[in-house]
Amino acid sequence: MSTRARQYPAEVLRREQLSEHLVRLVLGGEGLGDFVSTDLPDEWVGLVVPGQFQVRYYTVRSWDGSEMVLDVVVHETGLVTEWARGDCVGETVTITEAKASFAMPDEAQWVLLVGDLTALPAMARITESVKVPTRIWAEVPDDLAGYLPVGSDVTWLDTPPGGSALAETVETIDWPQGSGYFWMAGESAQMRAIRKHLMRVRQMPSSDYDVMGYWRSTAGRQPRAVDPAPIHRAGKASGKSDQQIWADYDAAREES
Ligand SMILES: Cc1cc2nc3c(=O)[nH]c(=O)nc-3n(C[C@H](O)[C@H](O)[C@H](O)COP(=O)(O)OP(=O)(O)OC[C@H]3O[C@@H](n4cnc5c(N)ncnc54)[C@H](O)[C@@H]3O)c2cc1C
Repeated sequence: MSTRARQYPAEVLRREQLSEHLVRLVLGGEGLGDFVSTDLPDEWVGLVVPGQFQVRYYTVRSWDGSEMVLDVVVHETGLVTEWARGDCVGETVTITEAKASFAMPDEAQWVLLVGDLTALPAMARITESVKVPTRIWAEVPDDLAGYLPVGSDVTWLDTPPGGSALAETVETIDWPQGSGYFWMAGESAQMRAIRKHLMRVRQMPSSDYDVMGYWRSTAGRQPRAVDPAPIHRAGKASGKSDQQIWADYDAAREES
């Protein structure tokens, strides 16, 4: 039996500019027909764009059995950024098999979601899927008031020049009573700071939170991608929790 991760060829059916920095791509075609969803709300896939071999990771904003929606942030430079900025309709990309990390305990009475623009697709899908009160902090550079489900309890935060200040935001949160689940994603250095805060200051058990570095600021450094897939496989094989696997991924990116 092959241990290679599944890959699906997919055609870009439509492209829509949702805001200055957010582009919606709708993928479809026969190759996607047997895509297997995890059905978890922060589900992501790898995306390989034409003429490239490096993978970038994107949240599945929605999958209806024939069409997959990915909402792609276009930032200053970048492999997918530059491709998605242009007219990519009709082009064929490769999608890798879905993975997910969201693991809300059954007894959770509330959910807190914190993230930057790259996390907004996942925060929208999580908000649609959970049944308990959900509070969102979204650090975005554009006006995306209509992006989240109607009635979402959201605090919009400006993106500070050159990065993110989500770690400071989390330190000021007035936490609800009772047990709940905290989900957060964004720039890796911010996420490392938050993990420390949750462990040392809030002393939360790791089953009550999920904190993921979605991208790494390389300001002043040479960017180098680290493929999370082998780290995810090795971590799962050795019985590590998702939190430990994400911490390993951040450490690998830090070393690269
Ligand atoms: C599980 C997971 C889910 C994700 N879901 C989404 C999603 O739904 N939508 C989405 O847009 N992104 C998402 N991301 C983040 C996305 O994979 C990265 O932002 C990716 O680096 C973008 O690729 P690129 O080719 O455009 O830029 P790259 O070629 O990777 O990077 C080029 C330069 O841009 C910088 N950079 C990268 N990302 C950002 C950013 N977001 N803001 C500012 N500078 C940046 C890098 O530091 C580098 O200097 C997700 C990541 C993970 C791990």
